[in-house]
Amino acid sequence: MEKIQTKRLAILGSTGSIGSQALDVVRQHADIFSIEVLTAFNNSKLLIEQAIEFNPNVVVIGSPALHDKVAAELEPYNIKVYSGEKSLLQVLEMETIDMVLVALVGFAGLKPTLKAIESGKPLAIANKETFVVAGELVTRLAREKAVNIYPVDSEHSAIFQCLAGEFHNPVEKIYLTASGGPFRGANRDFLSRVTKEDALRHPNWSMGCKVSIDSATLMNKGLEVIEARWLFGLKPQQIEVVVHPQSIIHSLVQFEDGSIKAQLGLPDMRLPIQYALSYPNRLKSSMPRFDFLNYPEFTFEKPDRETFRCLDFAYTALEKGGNMPCIINAANEVAVGAFLKDKIKFLAIADVIESCMNKASFIHHPVLDDYINSDLQVREIARSLIGQRFTPAQN
Ligand code: NAD
Ligand code: MG
Repeated sequence: MEKIQTKRLAILGSTGSIGSQALDVVRQHADIFSIEVLTAFNNSKLLIEQAIEFNPNVVVIGSPALHDKVAAELEPYNIKVYSGEKSLLQVLEMETIDMVLVALVGFAGLKPTLKAIESGKPLAIANKETFVVAGELVTRLAREKAVNIYPVDSEHSAIFQCLAGEFHNPVEKIYLTASGGPFRGANRDFLSRVTKEDALRHPNWSMGCKVSIDSATLMNKGLEVIEARWLFGLKPQQIEVVVHPQSIIHSLVQFEDGSIKAQLGLPDMRLPIQYALSYPNRLKSSMPRFDFLNYPEFTFEKPDRETFRCLDFAYTALEKGGNMPCIINAANEVAVGAFLKDKIKFLAIADVIESCMNKASFIHHPVLDDYINSDLQVREIARSLIGQRFTPAQN
């Protein structure tokens, strides 16, 4: 095999679930990948440990209050330390970065993604919220700047892998698989009593808190439908969700001749992360291999969109277009945050989102500032709703 080019990476959100697993991939392939930039929001302890191990040129800590602590610890290693959102954006201009992995969670991923595209850096994106909020803007800018975007989300990586060698063949439809989350099969009565601890206990994947709750409400799959629409340029009717509790088939593509291609593997995010970083090459990995005999049965179910209303909201938002996906994203971020702080109950997450969809200002053709303002407006609405109506005592 031809020698693979080395790549200097910027990992945004290196202390998170995806960021840490990406560093594991880098650890396994130190001959190919090196770390140029690491960033975190406020986990300074882990950021310092990672910096000492991977020796980046620069680290950025989101919270300015932690700057001096991180700088003091990293001084002996000659690693530059910056803080705050502005520095995070500036750092993305560095010519020594060959690829940016966006592993931030939530709306916070949008500006760094746009800045990386403007700086002409190829991107591996785990941050689905960026596509939900401003998928049209992000993909248009990437086309204009001829910047490639490689999906990290396992379903989208699966679709991308199925499309390899098929770029001239139209896609009839795609199937995004869903595990169904920890509450698959539950009814509203059961869901009215579930706790944060129950919701965080995902059957197949270990992930950050926000995406774990999104998986429990099925909002995660809704956000992924919108992400797929933009990544692969599909119409909403071409994107179907099928529940596959074993989480072995990561997604499927159906072509115009009726043939279906699927990508399979044990649920381990290091695989899609590695593929995004090494595309078009496949690198060796020592991850455990799938054994058919351990899985004598693959099963499939229709998602329950009546009970898990968030998936329905995502389809509605996608059909409506404009800033509606941005509205559901902001409402969801606030509602999930409140649920994680025990301020609202599980079923109230969907209620908060629905109210925000009705109350927030709708914009048909938003530009970047509209997304930023809409995000702020919806957060305000959602917070006041949570304060007034959705207190635990009233639920
Ligand atoms: P996480 O909460 O574990 O990590 C988030 C990272 O972003 C941390 O490093 C944190 O310090 C940083 N961060 C958070 N808020 C920030 C802010 N305002 N500014 C700067 N940095 C900030 O999240 P995760 O589970 O790794 O998920 C990251 C993204 O990947 C999400 O969009 C998620 O939906 C997506 N994703 C995750 C998984 C998974 O297995 N964890 C799978 C598929 C997709
Ligand atoms: Mg996913």
